Amino acid sequence: MTDYDMLVIGSGPAGRRAAVQSAKLGKSVLVVDKGRRLGGVSVHTGTIPSKTLRETVLNLSGFRERGFYGRGYRVKQDISAQDLISRLHKTLDHEVEVLQHQFMRNGVKYVHAAAKLAGPNRASLTTEDGEVSEVAFSNVLISVGTRPHRPDSIAFETARVFDSDDILDIKVLPRSLTVIGGGVIGVEYATIFSALDVPVTLIEPRETILDFVDRELVDDFIHQLRERGMTIRLGCEVKDIAVRANGVDVSLGDGRTVRSDILLYAAGRSGNVADLGLETAGLEADSRGRIKVDPTTFQTCVSNIYAAGDVIGFPSLASTSMEQGRVAACHAFGVALTPPPETFPYGIYAVPEISTVGQSEEDVKTSGVAYECGVARFRETSRGQIMGVNSGFLKLIFALGTRRLLGAHIVGEGATELIHIGQAVINLKGTVDYFFDNTFNYPTLAEAYKIAGLDAWNRMGST
Ligand SMILES: Cc1cc2nc3c(=O)[nH]c(=O)nc-3n(C[C@H](O)[C@H](O)[C@H](O)COP(=O)(O)OP(=O)(O)OC[C@H]3O[C@@H](n4cnc5c(N)ncnc54)[C@H](O)[C@@H]3O)c2cc1C
Repeated sequence: MTDYDMLVIGSGPAGRRAAVQSAKLGKSVLVVDKGRRLGGVSVHTGTIPSKTLRETVLNLSGFRERGFYGRGYRVKQDISAQDLISRLHKTLDHEVEVLQHQFMRNGVKYVHAAAKLAGPNRASLTTEDGEVSEVAFSNVLISVGTRPHRPDSIAFETARVFDSDDILDIKVLPRSLTVIGGGVIGVEYATIFSALDVPVTLIEPRETILDFVDRELVDDFIHQLRERGMTIRLGCEVKDIAVRANGVDVSLGDGRTVRSDILLYAAGRSGNVADLGLETAGLEADSRGRIKVDPTTFQTCVSNIYAAGDVIGFPSLASTSMEQGRVAACHAFGVALTPPPETFPYGIYAVPEISTVGQSEEDVKTSGVAYECGVARFRETSRGQIMGVNSGFLKLIFALGTRRLLGAHIVGEGATELIHIGQAVINLKGTVDYFFDNTFNYPTLAEAYKIAGLDAWNRMGST
């Protein structure tokens, strides 16, 4: 039986970073993943596929150019599912190759098998052929991620009802689509298909979508989606889902029925902990399969067992999972780290994009801090005009007393890139003065920061 300094279960963002960090510290590392290829949900069914699909749709549909050429404009007239999937495979192959190379360079060993804990220092590994072996370890990182929640009452095993994993396998583009779930995943897919001119209905049982995002942004976002013909049903309980020969009927609590060609169910995910042998190591998970950890070290209640990534719950992002994996590895091997900044950005790759960092206006109101906002519409920038961008805006929130930037919120083209300016200013404790003291490239969308800063400054005065 081989003994490793670090066993990593799951090769998603958390596992990958923990493995490489451990190897860079000179430790022996084994990564075990039961998926056919390295990379986890992030590479194969989550982040990278959905973002590749989005980019392909925006390019082939000519969506970004419609501000100039009208809603009928298309780069490719007949876009097929095959057009979307072929680019997807190229990107995924590249991601896997990069990862394999990274492991090889750093001397990280990798086994394709399902891991099950057999105590706090041992695990059994079962290959696809049923071969079982055992490994011993000093430390283990559980980074097994999550899978889509599939209620028993829904007939997923048909060609009409999909979750966010198998929607990537569709053979033909739907004539119409219903999406249940107004979280990030549901909203991203709903808007991507809508950008392809597929009629989409988004159903959310709560009264709003994306409830962690600044309200003003969400209101503008919903307005943009309705403007381009998407149907959004908020506060609608789903009573029944019936698969018919030529479509799916979703019966709602208010008596209405939504009919469509296919359905995407994107309401929740659960941790992959069922066959992990947690109990043998003295661990347990909650009802959604989440493992509790110390939020600063990612150590579980058993000192040599760490957990990171989606299996520990919020915020469930590839970006934060990577950082958690790195921190866990450093802690396991006694490397001291400075505490991370309080804020990190969220990117919602819908069409249009949303990105947000720091406090929303609702958060600031609740905190009782006196504040002022500054807003810049992208169409106010020369770059926005050049690009034909006629929607989207940046909102900055400043504290009145300290003049510090508290939050930056963007909906529109480039939001997920532009947000990092706001993130830097917040984390470096910058004030409104940063935005008018500094020169920005011209013409850029980033100039919106200057405009929004000046907008706020005009109302704040020099106090
Ligand atoms: C549709 C979608 C879009 C997303 N978009 C974004 C985005 O734009 N930006 C962003 O930051 N995040 C995004 N996310 C979230 C992101 O994908 C996750 O936060 C991230 O993948 C979690 O990483 P992880 O390290 O927890 O492992 P995961 O990526 O979840 O991978 C876990 C791995 O563990 C393996 N495993 C499970 N059990 C075992 C076992 N017993 N033995 C061996 N291996 C096992 C699985 O095979 C899997 O490969 C998206 C997610 C989805 C579903």
